[in-house]
Amino acid sequence: MSERPRLTVLSGPSGVGKSTVVAHMRKEHPEVWLSVSATTRKPRPGEQHGVHYFFVTDEEMDKLIANGELLEWAEFAGNRYGTPRAAVQEHLEAGVPVLLEIDLQGARQVRASMADAQLVFLAPPSWEELVRRLTGRGTEAPEVIERRLGAAKVELAAEPEFDVTLVNTSVEDVAGELLALMDVV
Ligand code: ADP
Ligand code: 5GP
Repeated sequence: MSERPRLTVLSGPSGVGKSTVVAHMRKEHPEVWLSVSATTRKPRPGEQHGVHYFFVTDEEMDKLIANGELLEWAEFAGNRYGTPRAAVQEHLEAGVPVLLEIDLQGARQVRASMADAQLVFLAPPSWEELVRRLTGRGTEAPEVIERRLGAAKVELAAEPEFDVTLVNTSVEDVAGELLALMDVV
């Protein structure tokens, strides 16, 4: 009997390496479907609409929320982010493994609405390394980095709420562990 795959949520502080791990994993296992979120944040260089995010205006985000089109949504470091509900449901119903890469507030909402979701926390090897990665990425202004580091302290304290913690020392190792948790390998 083939069971409907569980939804997996990957969370962790900004800069810990979530996008890097997911990109690595999907290069080898494109059958894992990653939900594309809507966000009011402006695109970073190289980010494409419909690929990395659906970049929307404040008004468009208001409508998505009001129409109940988001499975969850949250405000993070001054921007809003949300998961389009329909696409997630369609993929789960088709038997495709689904991954959400979302913040702590979103992970809590998913836990509340989908009891069988699997919540995975990606932790940095140390606080110093997290600061190094977030600063080294070079995509945010200093005040944005400060804001994200403030949010990171809150996110790190919530680690015990998750089902599993993976420490991102090696991208390859973590990607492999995540695939195993999703029953893909
Ligand atoms: P997030 O999506 O969690 O905000 P990113 O994937 O953008 O984080 O990674 C932040 C920075 O850390 C990037 O410059 C990335 O290359 C680097 N990074 C990610 N994982 C590792 C790792 N295991 N070791 C060293 N650097 C890493
Ligand atoms: P970034 O701006 O670095 O792409 O993302 C900032 C934070 O927002 C990250 O922690 C990321 O996981 C989270 N995020 C991205 N999409 C969503 C979403 O749809 N919902 C929620 N709650 N958080 C999201």
